[in-house]
Amino acid sequence: MFYGVRLACRAAWEGVRIIGWTSFYAAVYAAGGRGDRRARLSGVLRRYLLRMGPMYVKAGQVLGTQSGILPGQASEEFRHFFSDLPPMGPAALETVLRRGLPAPVTEVFADFDRVPFAVGSVAQIHSAVSHEGERLAVKVVKDGVQERLAAASWVLARLAVAVHALVPPLRKYELPGHVEELRPALLEQCDMHKEASRQSEVARNFRNHPFLRVPRVYEELSTRDVLVMEYVEATRGENVEQVAFPRTDLAARLQDVFYCMVYFHGLFHVDPHPGNIMVGDDGQIILVDFGLVGRLTEEDRWGLSAFYYACIRHQWDLATERFTRTFVVHPERVAARRADYERDFTAVLQRHFQEVSANWSTMGFLTDTIRLMHRYGTRMSTRFTLLALSLLTGEGYLTMVDPGIDIWRNARRFTDRFSPYLGDDLRERFERELGARMPGSRAARREAAGYLVAPTHLDRFAMPSAFPLIVAQASGSKVRDVDGNDYIDLSLGYGPHILGYAHPDVVEAVRGAVTDGAVNAIGSPSELSLARLIAEAFGPGAKVVLSNSGTEAVQMALRIARAHTGRQRVAKFEGHFHGFSDQGMVSSWFRYRGDRLAPEPVANSAGFHDAVVDDTLLLQYGERASFDRLLDNASTLACVIVEPMPAALADFDADFLSRLHEVCAEKGILVVHDEVVTGFRVHYGGVRHLAGVEPDLTCLGKIIGGGLPCGAVVGRAEVVDTARTTGDPFLDIDTRAFVGGTMSGNSVTAAAGTAVLTHLRDNPQIYDGLRRKTAWLIDELRTHTADLGVPCVVKGRDSIFSITFDHAVPRLVRDRLAGTRIEANIALAYYMRAHGVHMPELHTMMLSDAHSDADLKCISQAFRNSVAEMASSGFFTS
Ligand code: PLP
Repeated sequence: MFYGVRLACRAAWEGVRIIGWTSFYAAVYAAGGRGDRRARLSGVLRRYLLRMGPMYVKAGQVLGTQSGILPGQASEEFRHFFSDLPPMGPAALETVLRRGLPAPVTEVFADFDRVPFAVGSVAQIHSAVSHEGERLAVKVVKDGVQERLAAASWVLARLAVAVHALVPPLRKYELPGHVEELRPALLEQCDMHKEASRQSEVARNFRNHPFLRVPRVYEELSTRDVLVMEYVEATRGENVEQVAFPRTDLAARLQDVFYCMVYFHGLFHVDPHPGNIMVGDDGQIILVDFGLVGRLTEEDRWGLSAFYYACIRHQWDLATERFTRTFVVHPERVAARRADYERDFTAVLQRHFQEVSANWSTMGFLTDTIRLMHRYGTRMSTRFTLLALSLLTGEGYLTMVDPGIDIWRNARRFTDRFSPYLGDDLRERFERELGARMPGSRAARREAAGYLVAPTHLDRFAMPSAFPLIVAQASGSKVRDVDGNDYIDLSLGYGPHILGYAHPDVVEAVRGAVTDGAVNAIGSPSELSLARLIAEAFGPGAKVVLSNSGTEAVQMALRIARAHTGRQRVAKFEGHFHGFSDQGMVSSWFRYRGDRLAPEPVANSAGFHDAVVDDTLLLQYGERASFDRLLDNASTLACVIVEPMPAALADFDADFLSRLHEVCAEKGILVVHDEVVTGFRVHYGGVRHLAGVEPDLTCLGKIIGGGLPCGAVVGRAEVVDTARTTGDPFLDIDTRAFVGGTMSGNSVTAAAGTAVLTHLRDNPQIYDGLRRKTAWLIDELRTHTADLGVPCVVKGRDSIFSITFDHAVPRLVRDRLAGTRIEANIALAYYMRAHGVHMPELHTMMLSDAHSDADLKCISQAFRNSVAEMASSGFFTS
C-alpha cells in the first residue's frame, strides 16, 4: 500500500519532470537555428537523456539506433556521461545493505569495504571478503533507483503513446511498440536477483570454455538489492595495452565470444564495452555486468544464421527473404512493392557483404538498412536492434584492442568452423590429398548424379558429404572402396551390422533363403522364427508385427496406438528421429522452435503435411516440465513416442523414463519406445532392459534384419492384437489397424535376422565385450584430446559413441550443435581416412563384435595422429 502510494507520487513527479525537461530541450533544439540538423538533434538528445536518467539513456540508445538518428559513436558517448558518478551516501548505503542482505553485513562478510571501487548509474560495487577468506565483489543498487525506474518506465510508455498520437512524423518509428518491448528488460536492470540468475545462465553456457569466464554468483546471498559474486583479478578492458597476450588473437577471441553468445546461446550481453570486460595475460576474457541482456528465439537464430549463410554465398534474393521474414516488423507492408524492395535491399547487401566487406562496418550496414526500411514504411524488430547495439558496442571494443582487425575475415572463420560445410581452403586441401586416393569413388558419384538421388549417403540431406565412399566389398570390421582402399569402419551402415559385415552365419542363411525361393507374402519358417525370437526377447506374451524398415515400424506403431486408444494425437521429443515419415521427423533435426522447456513442433523437411506438424505435442527429454505438458494434453493423446536412449546424446535417463511411464499409465497414453538403433545393440532386447521399464510398444529395425531391410513392432499382446483381424470385415475396418506390406517378413530378410539374433542370444558375452571395448576406446580418445589440449567431448556407452569438438556437454539435443566445431568433425573424418579408418562425418559411431582389440588400437592411434595433425594445422586455435 505504502509502496503503491510512493510509486504514484513518483510517477506524478516523473510526469512533471518529463514534460518540463522535454519542453525545455525541444525549445533548445528549435532555437538552434539552421546548420546540420542531425548533428544538432543528436547533441540535444544526448543532453536531454543524460538529464533524464539511466532508463532514458538505454531507451534512447535503442530508439536512436532504430530511427537512424544517432550515429554509432553516440552509444559510446552516452556511456562516458555515466562514468565517475557519485556513490550513494553512507546512510543510504546502510539502508540498502540492511534491506538487501539476509543478515547484518558483519555476519555475511568477514570484511566489507564501504568505499565502492566502481560506481554506475544504477548500482555501485564494493569489495568484500567471505568468512572462508574468498575475495568478493558486491554490487549494491542505489537507494531509490528501483522506484525511479518503475515510475519512469510507466510514464515513458504513456509518453510514447501520446507522442505517437500527436506527432504524425514520428509515427513511422512506432515508439509505443518499442517501449513496450523494451520495458521489461529496462526494468530488470535494477533487480539483482534477476541479474544473478542471468549471470549464472551465461556462466552455464560457457562452462568449461577454454578462454571465457563469467564470475561465479552466490545466488543464496543475492537479493533484489544486492548481488554477491567472486572477485576476479584481471586487467580492465580499457587498459588492454598492459596485457601480454597478442592483441590480434585477443580481438579474434573476443569476436568469437560475442558471436557464440548470439548464434549459439541466443543470450547476449547488450553492453560489451571495455568497462564490462576484463582480460588476463593468458588471453582469458572475463565478462561482467549482465544488467541488460538480449535474447534471441530459436527462430531468430535460425533466421540470422540462414541470412548470413546466404550473404556469404552472395545469394541476395534468399538473404532478403530470410532477413525480412525474421527481423522486419510488418513484412506485409513491403509486399505491395516487393520487386522494388528486393532490388533495393539487394543493393544494400551487395554493397556491404561484397564490395566493402574488407572494411566491414555494422554501423554502415545498419544505417543503410534502417533508411531502406523507413522508405518502405516499416522497421526492424526491437530484438534485432538490441542485437545491433550489442554488435556495435562489441565491434567498438574489438577495434580498440586491434585497430587493424578484419572483422569480416574473423566472421568468415567463425561461420566456417561451425558450419556443416568445408571452408574453401580445407576443401581444396582435401581435394588434393583425399580426392587423389579415391578417383573411382569420385567418378562413380559424378556419374550417379545423372540418375540417382541418394539422400542418406551420396546426397546427404542438409549435411552433404564432400567425399562419399563407394564400397566394393565389406567383411568383418572393414570396408574396401572401389579404389582398393581398406578402412576399419565405424559406421556399420548406421547400425545393422553388429556382428560385422558378411558374418558367416548370415551369409549362409541368406544363401539358403534365396536358394529356397526368396518367398514373400506367403508364410515361411524363417518369418516365424524371427518373430518368435523377437517376442521372446521382450518377455512372456509379447507379440510382433514385421515391416521393412524402422520408418515403417514407427508408422505401424502409431496407427496401432490410435486404433487402440481411439485418440488422435502423438507426443514426441525434440531432437528424436523416428524415420522419414512426417510424424517421425517433426522437430527431429537441426531446426527447432519455441522455448527450451516448452518446445513447439516444426517441419524438418519440405513436403510435410502441416496438420501433422501442428497436431504434435512436443516434449523435452529429461525435463520435468514435460510431465505437466503431458498431463495438460492427456485426453487427446494416443501415445508418446520416445528414443529411450537418444542416439544424439548416447545415454539415457532411467528416472525420467520411469516417471514418463507412470504418467502415461495413469492417463491411458501408450508409451512407444523407438529402439530402431538401440534394440539388440545395447543389450539383447534393448534399452528397456537397462532402464527397467516396460513400454506398451517398441519399434525395431536395423539389427533385426541382419543387414537386410527390416523393421518390427513388438509389445503387449493386447495392444499389438489391434492389428489382428476380428474375422468380421466390418468390425476390422472400424476397429482394427491394417499394417502390412508385400515384403514384410520375407524369407530372405527373416533368415538373415534370425541368424543374427540367434547368434546374439547364444553368445551373451558379445554384449560384455562391446561394453568393454566401447569404454576402453572412449577412455583412449578422451586421454588423447586431454593430452593434446583440444576441447572435445567423447560420449557413449554399449557400442555407441560420438565425438564433438566443443567445451560443453550438451544437455538437450538442441544444444548439441551449438558451439560444436562441425568443420573439425568433418575434417576429422577425412584425416582418419588417411590413417585407414572410415568414420561417418556427422553421425554417431558404432562398434561391432568384429572389431578386434587390434582394430581398436588402430582407431585410437589414428585418432591421436589425426587430432595432433589438426591441432598443428591450427584447427583449435582461438
Ligand atoms: N528410428 C530411429 C531412432 C532411427 O535412428 C532410424 C534411422 O536411423 C529410424 C527410426 C528409421 O529407420 P529406417 O532408416 O530403417 O527407416
